[in-house]
Amino acid sequence: MIKSIRYGKYKIGVEYTHLKDCYGLYDPNNKKLQIDKRQKGFKLFNTWMHELFHIIMYHEEIDVNKKGEEPIAKAVGDGYEKIFKSNPRLKNKLYSLLRLDINSKK
Ligand SMILES: [Zn+2]
Repeated sequence: MIKSIRYGKYKIGVEYTHLKDCYGLYDPNNKKLQIDKRQKGFKLFNTWMHELFHIIMYHEEIDVNKKGEEPIAKAVGDGYEKIFKSNPRLKNKLYSLLRLDINSKK
């Protein structure tokens, strides 16, 4: 279980909980990421990618309403590279989620 991730100089705590109305939530003020623990496989992968996108946008100070598509795409690519390079356990976790099928272990 991933308890924290690094984004540049920041350490982001990860908490597994039950959320209402969403599957994940990033609180930038407290550097805390909440993930609904009832998810697995592609659904959980989806949530991680979604929340990591928010983390990248926030910490790169990208206002998606003001930036064009290309600068956002560049920030996303660079941001994921940064995350996967500095969080090998998260990278492995996401690999395993992609490999997960209905009958396999969590
Ligand atoms: Zn969102």
